[in-house]
Amino acid sequence: MKEELKEAMTGGGKKVVAFACTRSVCQAPLEAVLKESGLDPDNLVIVNAREQLALVHQDIAGATEKAKMLLNAVITKALIIEPMETITIEEYQEAPVEANSISSSEQAGQDTLIQIVEKKVNHPEVNQDICGKCGICMTVCPYEAITIPEGEYPEFKVELCQSCGLCVSSCPTRAIEASNFGYDIIEAQVKAILNVRPEDMSVIIGFVCDHSGYSLLDAAGLSGETYSSGFIPVYVNCMSDLSLMNVANAVRKGANGVMLIGCLKDECRFMKGIERSRSQVHIINEFFKVAGVKNPIKLLESDGSTVNQFTTALVEMETQIHKSHS
Ligand code: SF4
Ligand code: SF4
Repeated sequence: MKEELKEAMTGGGKKVVAFACTRSVCQAPLEAVLKESGLDPDNLVIVNAREQLALVHQDIAGATEKAKMLLNAVITKALIIEPMETITIEEYQEAPVEANSISSSEQAGQDTLIQIVEKKVNHPEVNQDICGKCGICMTVCPYEAITIPEGEYPEFKVELCQSCGLCVSSCPTRAIEASNFGYDIIEAQVKAILNVRPEDMSVIIGFVCDHSGYSLLDAAGLSGETYSSGFIPVYVNCMSDLSLMNVANAVRKGANGVMLIGCLKDECRFMKGIERSRSQVHIINEFFKVAGVKNPIKLLESDGSTVNQFTTALVEMETQIHKSHS
């Protein structure tokens, strides 16, 4: 496979889209092939065509259309993403230096060891031309990774940023940009899906968190359950990453419904994801009620194993969509 990949990249290509199985099985070996071929593994995007496609859809025609939509979305994503930046940081520890320390270490004081380590970071940046210096980004960041010196623009402590996306999705002027997550890349994928969606196919866009959401869809595939091929997942780092505008725009651009799938509150890796989605779904449902928009928006909070909760919710949404069109 290494040789085939090298040959395919002779034209100067750097990005790889794999139509494969679940990331938990395929990601590590595929990344190893990229590395051996001299490519940065960050350039890889995987479509789960087994657990989240072939195993869950009996309707071949619908599944084929879904595959086309997913491929269009991930090719769009692959063209946007950038390999992460590598920085060198000092880490302070009480314990002895770990064997996987990349670089040097030295004794500093009695118990504290300092390790110089390399870390890949994936942080957003501020477009100063449109930043209003409101400070919201600094307030919402769960990791204190943003500071705003008096009268200045936000500055990122890149070593603290966890790429949760909350600052990107919260900025009122969309001044915070990130190449690998956040508003723009989500928006581009939704557009790519809806651009190739057959006119007569009802589509529910699933904004699915990379953690419990991904596990839940894998669990559905492995459980023998089947569900509608009209459910098209778009993965986000966390529900923190998703903006209200991403949800509203999905409907505006033609999605018949939107399902958000995030972690249970106490299991959110980025602390604030599901709370944010609860308030977003409440706001958008109130707005749709007033505006007479009947497209259903639903939020699922899952530990990654609640397959029945997911399939039941999907059937309910499809019934609602069908009723609103009859
Ligand atoms: S939230 Fe946006 S507009 Fe406000 S300070 Fe941060 S980057 Fe600037
Ligand atoms: S992406 Fe998350 S962790 Fe990083 S600066 Fe923004 S809010 Fe903080």
